[in-house]
Formats: sequence, C-alpha cells, structure tokens
Amino acid sequence: MFTIGCHLSSAKGYRAMAADAASIGANTFQFFTRNPRGGKAKAIDPADVAAFEELAAEAGIERFLAHAPYTMNPAAAKPETREFALAILADDLARMESTPHQMYNMHPGCHVGQGAEAGIAKIADALNQVLAPEQTTTLLLETMAGKGTEVGGTFEELAAIMGQVELADHVGVCLDTCHVWDGGYDVAGRLDDVLEEFDRVIGLERLRAVHLNDSKNPLGAAKDRHARLGEGEIGFEALAAVTNHEALRDLPFFLETPQDDLAGWGAEIAALKAARL
Ligand code: FE
Ligand code: FE
Ligand code: ZN
Repeated sequence: MFTIGCHLSSAKGYRAMAADAASIGANTFQFFTRNPRGGKAKAIDPADVAAFEELAAEAGIERFLAHAPYTMNPAAAKPETREFALAILADDLARMESTPHQMYNMHPGCHVGQGAEAGIAKIADALNQVLAPEQTTTLLLETMAGKGTEVGGTFEELAAIMGQVELADHVGVCLDTCHVWDGGYDVAGRLDDVLEEFDRVIGLERLRAVHLNDSKNPLGAAKDRHARLGEGEIGFEALAAVTNHEALRDLPFFLETPQDDLAGWGAEIAALKAARL
C-alpha cells in the first residue's frame, strides 16, 4: 500500500484532519502537537478522538505522525530552556497515548556551541527521562540539514543518540529528503548508496517515516529550505524514486512542501500516485 499524506493544521482536531486528508486523496497526515513555537497544547477531546477513529477506518487512515514544536531544544545549554523542552516532551508523549501506537517526530536539538558530543548526551538523557516501557508511541528523530548547531545532520549523530537511549525499541528515525540532501547525502543521484550508508550506520529497520520535500538549495548546502516537488534541486523524478524504492516503499510519506492550500498537496499526491510503480 502507498501511504502518503501531508502536514495539516490541527486547529480543528483529529476528525477534521482525517477529513482534510481524505479530501485530497491522502491516507495519512502529520500535524504539530501544539504551536510550533512552543506554548500550551489544547486538551485532547475524547469525543473528537472517537469521531476520528470512525472516519479514519472509513478513509483507510491507519497511521499519523505528530510533530513536536521545532523550538523545543533538549540539548539546550540554559537549564530553563532544557527544562521547558523536557516538560513539552513529557506532556506530548502522555497526550499521544490517547491515540495509541502512533508516531511522534522531533528535531533532535541544537548544541548551541557546546559541541555535538555534549548535545548528543543531553538529547539521549532527555529521552531516557521521558520514555517509559508502557508507552505505545514510537518517537522518531528527524534527520537534519546540519544548519547552525543542529544535532542529527549526519547518520552517525542519530546513531550516537540512539546508542545512549535505554528504551531503544521506542525510538526510530524519520528521513527528511530535503534535510539529508542539504546535509550532503545525494538522494537524487546515489539513493542506493545513501540507503546502504543509513543501513550500515543506523539500520534500515529503524527508519519509520519519510518527509518528502524538494530543496531550494544544492546538495550539501546545510540550509533547510523546502521546495515543492519538482521545483527544487532534487527534482520530481528522484523524489518519486524515493517512494518506489524497495527499502522505502512501505513507509509512510509526508509532504512538507510550501503550498497555499490543500489543493496544492492534493496535486502532489496525485502526481506521486501516478508515478507509483
Ligand atoms: Fe521537522
Ligand atoms: Fe521534516
Ligand atoms: Zn525542514
């Protein structure tokens, strides 16, 4: 099955997201758990979750991906910033259990000058504080573009974080095509080699989701500016090849392309379905 969707607004709740997804031919979706800049999350309404489950079953939606606010930094140097990140992480993971067995994606963090090794240790320590054996949610660490002091711009850094996490089976990876491209991994020209490297360093069994984005910048630019599929440096054909690759084709794919409205993502989803082998 081809599992494809995009990033949606969570303002109207879970059922509304399932309806939005279904309206554009998507069978999965992503959303921010709260304002992407942080702040308080809206309480989860059990009636909304029940209505969502009913509609999702009808629409063939089995999975979704929640995304942590991107300002959350568990590698922060300032104690109050790190405490804030830990509180958000713990609260988000508790809320995720109202929709069991789903996935939660986060940017690992920024070491803000402390060095990657210190950042990695702080991120792993944060995960060890918030993960619990009884949780059904899989937490995904996103591959980053390597912009500024971002941790997770290389497969080695993600492997190092996971190597220090006690409940390793609760943690996986989300591969962002724009980010890895910007990080110097040539997913357009050498996809097989990149996936071989991923397998050697992290293990392909840890890969649970793909953010499918084109990039406004050339290979290795370390910029992180998403483009619509086919309007960037990676190109539509290479991105369609990502969705068709033997090692990836059964994963859920999420578009985070800049669009003005749902119809824009609907067109991208239709084009990808037409290119599906
Ligand atoms: Fe992200
Ligand atoms: Fe992403
Ligand atoms: Zn990005």
